[in-house]
Amino acid sequence: MTVPFLDLKLPYLEIKGELDAAYARVMRSGWYILGSEVEAFEQEFAAYCGVNHCIGTGSGLEALHLILRAAGIGPGDHVIVPANTYIATWLAVSYTGATPIPVEPDEHTYNLDPRQIEAAITPKTKAIIPVHLYGQPADMDPIIEIARRHGLWVFEDSAQAHGALYKGRHAGSLGDAAGFSFYPGKNLGAFGDAGAVTTNNDTLAERVRTLRNYGSRIKYVNDYKGLNSRLDELQAAFLRVKLRQLDEWNSRRSLVAAYYNEALADTRLILPYVPEWAGPVWHVYVIRYAGRNNLQQQLIQAGIGTLIHYPIPPHLQKAYQELGYMEGDFPVSELIAHEVLSLPVGPHMHDEDMESVYQVLIGLC
Ligand SMILES: *Cc1c(COP(=O)(O)O)cnc(C)c1O
Repeated sequence: MTVPFLDLKLPYLEIKGELDAAYARVMRSGWYILGSEVEAFEQEFAAYCGVNHCIGTGSGLEALHLILRAAGIGPGDHVIVPANTYIATWLAVSYTGATPIPVEPDEHTYNLDPRQIEAAITPKTKAIIPVHLYGQPADMDPIIEIARRHGLWVFEDSAQAHGALYKGRHAGSLGDAAGFSFYPGKNLGAFGDAGAVTTNNDTLAERVRTLRNYGSRIKYVNDYKGLNSRLDELQAAFLRVKLRQLDEWNSRRSLVAAYYNEALADTRLILPYVPEWAGPVWHVYVIRYAGRNNLQQQLIQAGIGTLIHYPIPPHLQKAYQELGYMEGDFPVSELIAHEVLSLPVGPHMHDEDMESVYQVLIGLC
């Protein structure tokens, strides 16, 4: 590959000294689960997001699931989710026994369309989970307004939005609670699986903290049937180092996005649309093109790595066949699935890499 989609060695090499020191510190401490590194990271990430509580978890999926469990959501309940999200948003709901209720995105922002939410609300609805997809914040104010009117929770899926801003406020501080993923490829990525919950709600925070650790507050005393979903000390120590880089690395992503926005403006590609209140962090740079599959093949031949986020929407996955959806039920999401393509973007892309992508693309579309 001339330009790989992502090279996770590069962030390691840039801050190798600090990461290796964090590794040595934890290894020598003799303490590997729920200790001082996790506590320190939780405080630092809560402060970064502008919330009172952060609770480290084993993954982003489990962070979302723990929030729903803490809110008492379970069998018989409905939770509104975007039809075009990564399947983890849906799975977090399904694991509680509740049913994910898909709502179409806005065709331009790819985020939950507030105008379509109310039609999906029933007496069973308990929560709405907007996803800040591709690193761009969802339009939270109208979503929260609808939720308040119907007495629903709002939980952010912030797995792609570390540092993203909505009207000047950080993703993760906008609803009742938020789930983050620190999967290695995310903007704030660990070196393995990890996640976190952020919230200003003291009760939810206390329950998530208990539920992530077997439902136990005091060792061998169990208040709930909890999970084992803990952030470990090594990952927390790595994340503390990487959190200090986050804003700079996000701004380097923005430079790549700005380059593409300008260089590709005259092509037939549909470029990302950013509302004026949004401060995206470009987790991925997603273009749309009717001949997407063909284009992706040609890019591979030219040595340019791309990915599709996502090729099959959850309602058409075999995993969700019991819900009985069919092709055509969510046309906007299906159109997006057919046409989106994510170009290489990241804090470690060189000018030559961006120019190679540009040169190949203008020759093709
Ligand atoms: C990555 C991701 C998740 C799940 O996070 P994991 O840490 O992989 O469990 C959830 N939702 C969205 C939108 C994601 O991109």
